Amino acid sequence: MIEYENLGELNKPFFEEYKISFEKTLNSGWYILGENVKRFEEEFSAYHQLKYCIGVASGLDALVLSLKALNYEKDSEVIVPSNTYIATILSILHCGLKPVLVEPELETYNIDPKKIEEKISAKTKAIMIVHLYGKPCDMRPILALKEKYHLALVEDCAQSHGAKYFGRLTGTFGEFGAFSFYPTKNLGALGDAGAVLTDDTALSKLINRLRNYGSDVKYYNEIVGYNSRLHEMQAGFLSIKLKHLDEINTHKRKLAKIYFDNLKEDFIKPVVEENVFDVFHIFNIRHSKRGELKNYLLKNEIKTEIHYPVPPHKQKAMAGIISEKDFPISEEIHATTLSLPISFYHTEDDIFKVVEVMNKF
Ligand SMILES: *Cc1c(COP(=O)(O)O)cnc(C)c1O
Repeated sequence: MIEYENLGELNKPFFEEYKISFEKTLNSGWYILGENVKRFEEEFSAYHQLKYCIGVASGLDALVLSLKALNYEKDSEVIVPSNTYIATILSILHCGLKPVLVEPELETYNIDPKKIEEKISAKTKAIMIVHLYGKPCDMRPILALKEKYHLALVEDCAQSHGAKYFGRLTGTFGEFGAFSFYPTKNLGALGDAGAVLTDDTALSKLINRLRNYGSDVKYYNEIVGYNSRLHEMQAGFLSIKLKHLDEINTHKRKLAKIYFDNLKEDFIKPVVEENVFDVFHIFNIRHSKRGELKNYLLKNEIKTEIHYPVPPHKQKAMAGIISEKDFPISEEIHATTLSLPISFYHTEDDIFKVVEVMNKF
């Protein structure tokens, strides 16, 4: 059986270092906002050549706290892709703001910059983009709109650790880069974890307070805050894995190349763009008989996933919240996409086996 993902196998190369880190933290007796969190924050901001990284409890919280820090009036509008994981949209709702959905490009699956401007109103305050599947969005036109309309930019980098657009890392383009370290992500912890990147001193202080009960000094609360701190154990594990992030991404890109070079034309593969360094959090193909293909692969001992089966505007939770229903491109993607195995632990032989079976479909 070729599994889609196996987190035990994925993490095995790091077990020995993890055990040392675990024991060290255990013995330290300091389990909240200690040395590990501080070190990881320094390492992760240095990796991005930005001034600040603030560790938080999850990717969702990284998005929520970013929007909270920007402090918009209730019902202000935030532009967001219609084709994303629900968390991106939930973060906007949890801040009392209104998500305004913009269709993706059918080729890149990322927000279509050409369709943003028509959705900008007097109430629009920010654009929240998602570098979906590990592929950076087309930043040049997005940055031009940000400038033209004086909008904030929040990047959802939950799937794009280490991805680059014209040599520049995702998470470094806007006011905030919001990251998830959910275990399956390219930089994954052993539990929930997240971080916010920013180059702005005042905003970084706000996120620092927000994640820790609105407090800078224990028992003195400056603002209405949350409890959303990056866990000390997870930060220790993340420092270890961060050293291998580029190696993880290189491996995934090597596996992706096998799919690109060998999968037959029947499958619609992701586009390859010059100057876009895609880290393939997910390698998807599209096919009109997606369900049949998925079953066929399973019968041949190959597990796949669907990211995602239901678009946000059709989720039950969004009834009465997202009233617009005209998102044909999102629906097309959701109806035809299939994610193929591409974990750090998969071998080239695994992928050649997937290709061989797929090409007989
Ligand atoms: C995983 C993910 C999130 C949420 O991250 P959590 O750590 O699970 O809260 C947000 N946005 C996208 C695009 C994701 O893939």
